[in-house]
Amino acid sequence: MRLNTDGLIIREMQTGEADRLVTVLTRDMGVIKAFVRGARSIKSRSLSATQLLGYSRFSIYMSRDVYTIDEAEPIEVFFGVRGDFARTSLAMYFCELICELAPEGSDSQEILSLALNTLYKLSNNKLPTHQLKAIFEMRLLSLTGYMPNLVGCTDCGKYTDETMFFDIEHSQLYCSACQPSQHTFELSLGVVTALRHICLSDPEKVFSFTLSAAGLKSLSEISEIYLLARTQRRYKSLELYKSFT
Ligand SMILES: [Zn+2]
Repeated sequence: MRLNTDGLIIREMQTGEADRLVTVLTRDMGVIKAFVRGARSIKSRSLSATQLLGYSRFSIYMSRDVYTIDEAEPIEVFFGVRGDFARTSLAMYFCELICELAPEGSDSQEILSLALNTLYKLSNNKLPTHQLKAIFEMRLLSLTGYMPNLVGCTDCGKYTDETMFFDIEHSQLYCSACQPSQHTFELSLGVVTALRHICLSDPEKVFSFTLSAAGLKSLSEISEIYLLARTQRRYKSLELYKSFT
């Protein structure tokens, strides 16, 4: 059987003299692992198409559970992140998150679009890295079943308050009058509004918001705390990113 689809290479590993095993976020089949046979002998054009952060059109041969890429036509390679340690490590972190959270075997159109748009903006320096990081973390979690309840205060339903309190463990918000005395994070209304925008807006609007530098720092911190609590693991690339910023 043969599958023709486009996808983003999110991990690569050398497996022998000439073969590589890559992990691809595909549009039609979610995350798959596939061999690239004789990767060193195929044309350099196909080689860049199967390297990390390459977004390409693939022809994939499927035999039992083994997938093999035998043709790859590059569409975009996100070279713009190279040469900048913070942006490179952030791109690696996005790849690690996709490996961790994206489904296998099902349509991943929206996750792929989010990844491509985020990498494009990262590559072209279109938005602050903290903003891209928070958007990617919270939107990916929302698309994979971990959207927090941001509609209003869990107890009284109040939609806006000057400061609100986020209960990470139960993924819910409180107003200042109802907040439990412990285990919550205080957020400004600006940060709550940004979180709502990231999780709930239409895909094409998800990047369109502005926040002060202090607001972005707070947004990035709370998004990361929430992500680490949901996925319960460490990310080397995240630690690397933080060492450069
Ligand atoms: Zn309340």
